[in-house]
Amino acid sequence: MAKIPFVRDMAFAYGASDQVSPLIRRVVANNPGPFTFRGTGVYIVGKGSVAVIDPGTDDPAHIEALKRALAGERVTHIFVTHRHLDHSPAARPLQAATGAKIWASGIAPRFSSDDFVAEEGDDLRFKPDIVATDGETFSGPGWTLEAVFTPGHTSDHMCLALHEENALFSGDHIMGWSTTVVSPPDGDMDAYLANLDKVQARNFATLWPTHGPPVVAVRAFIEAYRAHRMEREGQIIARLQAGQTRITEMVPVIYADVDARLYPAAAHSVLAHMIRLVKQGRVRTAGAPALDSEFTPA
Ligand SMILES: [Zn+2]
Repeated sequence: MAKIPFVRDMAFAYGASDQVSPLIRRVVANNPGPFTFRGTGVYIVGKGSVAVIDPGTDDPAHIEALKRALAGERVTHIFVTHRHLDHSPAARPLQAATGAKIWASGIAPRFSSDDFVAEEGDDLRFKPDIVATDGETFSGPGWTLEAVFTPGHTSDHMCLALHEENALFSGDHIMGWSTTVVSPPDGDMDAYLANLDKVQARNFATLWPTHGPPVVAVRAFIEAYRAHRMEREGQIIARLQAGQTRITEMVPVIYADVDARLYPAAAHSVLAHMIRLVKQGRVRTAGAPALDSEFTPA
């Protein structure tokens, strides 16, 4: 498999506000876990009149830490990259403390009745005050943020570009410490890959994921990140050509080096690729692709 140059070293203390670039401060929430790495990294952009990106969990100690970090300043914008429970629930409490409006893509989720929760789960109550549009810019003294829509991880995912530092707050779209969960129906592998290309084309100098440290070797990182997905897709096609027709048969072969407890998540990832392959006409199945569908190479 393509070796992704993961970055995992991060010096921080929970609840402290660290200046991590000339325009960016970060406060890490104390919610470490298998999908959040060390916890949710909340970014504060600017000085005096500031924007907050992904306020995080609705945990009183975390909200207090944000208020401390923002003391004496005016919050003009709260942005949420997507509606997962480790990103959005602190938006309303932070609004109560600051009066700032909340922006997000506002794209409605695609759920099914048997939805499998592969992540921290969805914040079903989340609704932005204002729906951002792709490419829309927002500014404050010395900073300009641009909404860069990147559905794939979730249907509503958006990143935010910081023009002055040629940086991108990449949310969970691109994370330095791990690959991202792409789980249908809300996750979409085809959109995900297209939006890796969309970010690559922008030649950002730095990516600031919501979890973990920044990615600075951006071009090489995204290239390896994408190559990893394409290798998985190649393995799926190889399984189909070897006569395996069901996702449950393929997963233990493709993910032979992975803990069996992760097979349900892996099966969803394979399904995400199958949906893309069926859409491209490279794989056939009867009806809408599902976990228990029978697949054959076209
Ligand atoms: Zn997420």
